Amino acid sequence: MSYVGPDFDPPQPRRSPLRRPLVVAAAALVPGALAGWLLWQATGSGGEAGGSGGVAAGASSTGKTASTGSGDDDKVPTPSASDPSSSSSPSVPAASGPLSGKVVVIDPGHNPGNFQHTTEINRKVDIGTNRKECDTTGTSTNSGYTEADFTLDVARRARKILEEQGATVKFTQDGNRPWGPCVDERARIGNEAHADAVVSVHADGSGAGNRGFHVILPGAVHEGAADTRPIVAPSRDLGERVAGRFVRNTGSAPSNYIGDGTGLVTRKDLGGLNLSTVPKVFIECGNMRDSKDAALLTSGAWRQKAAQGISEGIVSFVRK
Ligand SMILES: [Zn+2]
Repeated sequence: MSYVGPDFDPPQPRRSPLRRPLVVAAAALVPGALAGWLLWQATGSGGEAGGSGGVAAGASSTGKTASTGSGDDDKVPTPSASDPSSSSSPSVPAASGPLSGKVVVIDPGHNPGNFQHTTEINRKVDIGTNRKECDTTGTSTNSGYTEADFTLDVARRARKILEEQGATVKFTQDGNRPWGPCVDERARIGNEAHADAVVSVHADGSGAGNRGFHVILPGAVHEGAADTRPIVAPSRDLGERVAGRFVRNTGSAPSNYIGDGTGLVTRKDLGGLNLSTVPKVFIECGNMRDSKDAALLTSGAWRQKAAQGISEGIVSFVRK
């Protein structure tokens, strides 16, 4: 969890969760959000990110129910353990794996031990714009499945997928430390790894009825130790690719309570983003406090799909 947003949009029907938020977005003339969505789709229509087909797999932005993208799959680098050379893209390096030489940092949000170390995680750290808690406990489902356990599981699944393609994958924590790290250290780990991409994995703790995922992009911050200006554009690219592939793999719709149906939200208050010098996004995979989302988040099969979607987004970005 990194955000509990205002309920500015009521719960949406399951079958067409995107339709109304997008209409709202268009009607309210939210150019940034809409532009993000259109770019997301345009990226897919270009055949690289597969966003159009991916979006259509879960929902439609136009009201029509588009089927999976026609003919773009042969250009999409679909991760596959059994067929690592499945992509026909001419940019694919030789047998060592398409991600050979690429460094990916995955940041599993929170830490299962944070609950026992509240003093440590409550101390303030400098995030450029201000000082903020070192880390937080994260949320949980109503039945007690913690966000920290969720993020580690999804991250480990994604690591396996990415390593099978030759990537060097580093974690900010792997359940191997009593608490944290603090958000500033989480950012520093990605920076010092010179990561080609960093994804911070989370699940939200919003109100019941609020559903779906959203990807958080760094806003332009230039204050104190923070200067995100060089990473704003590439992070958006990364985030759009992750969002598109997440939709495609999970069938989940973009959030119905934040992001105006785009699944994309820009923020300037997260130390993990403010202090990053490499392309980085957060993904809130769903809302742990909604029973329907919780049923997904607690499913190992669904978490595998989530990990696959996140991984494919990363692969698409680092290979571009
Ligand atoms: Zn979180």
